[in-house]
Amino acid sequence: MTFTLLKELHSVQRQTKIKVRISRIWEAKTPLLKNDILSLECLLIDEEGYSMQATIRKHDADNFKSLIDEGSVYIVDNFNLILAKNNYAAVNQKHMIQFSKWTHLLKDIKYTCKAKLVSIDTTYGWWYRACYNCKAAVKDFADTFWCGQCGKNDQSPVLWYKLDAVVDDEIATTNFIIFGKIAQELIRIPAQQLAIAANADKFVLPSVFKNVVGQTYIFQISIDSRRSNINAQSFKVTKIFIDDLDTKGKKKIYTKDAEDTLEETNDDHTTHTSQNDSGPEIVEDPIIQSM
Ligand SMILES: [Zn+2]
Repeated sequence: MTFTLLKELHSVQRQTKIKVRISRIWEAKTPLLKNDILSLECLLIDEEGYSMQATIRKHDADNFKSLIDEGSVYIVDNFNLILAKNNYAAVNQKHMIQFSKWTHLLKDIKYTCKAKLVSIDTTYGWWYRACYNCKAAVKDFADTFWCGQCGKNDQSPVLWYKLDAVVDDEIATTNFIIFGKIAQELIRIPAQQLAIAANADKFVLPSVFKNVVGQTYIFQISIDSRRSNINAQSFKVTKIFIDDLDTKGKKKIYTKDAEDTLEETNDDHTTHTSQNDSGPEIVEDPIIQSM
């Protein structure tokens, strides 16, 4: 999943997604409105430490109060970019984000589980042609190609792993998607090298995969909400603890979230705040189309 950094957020398209920590939540009040609030305000911080203020209008505030937690990380889309209100802005910036009832918030939670890599489903192949820049799948266009995600086509795509791994944690069998560098650390050979080898077949696993199929690993996963051909929501591997394999499981691995189990992934952390389907509402604030 590719996220727009807050410093690069100059306009909002339909597919624009940000990944931010909500570091502070407060109510904007004035002395004139004694028990009432003007709006709910949040301070957002992205992975580069860049901060931006988000505002939630009074009539959406109660709904959001129950959905957002201070300190948690969220993947957010369908938000508006509006001109910053300069009267009580926490950060000095031209724009601020506005969450509306159309905004989607997906709490970003990582889980760790120990599971056996049973097989790799190659129905859709074990590699894909990825944009050199953002690693999204490139699309063919006339005699060339382009990236639908970032629009680049000035450099050749790279052949990138996308392994649809079937894993079994002794409770259930499920599919984990292992992309790019994480798969490369597991296989220890770049996908590009294997994909262009003599007799290589996109839909047949190279023999080197024998070293990993059947092994047990500790996987760190997150919910991948990006739509794919395989299913609408899948689990994306964010880390594989290969150390555990090398030391035959004797070495204890300490991770912050190691106590989490796969069972928790059954929780639905997706929150859609829409209450009706009558189409997008007209926002009161000016929407910045482009700059
Ligand atoms: Zn791209």
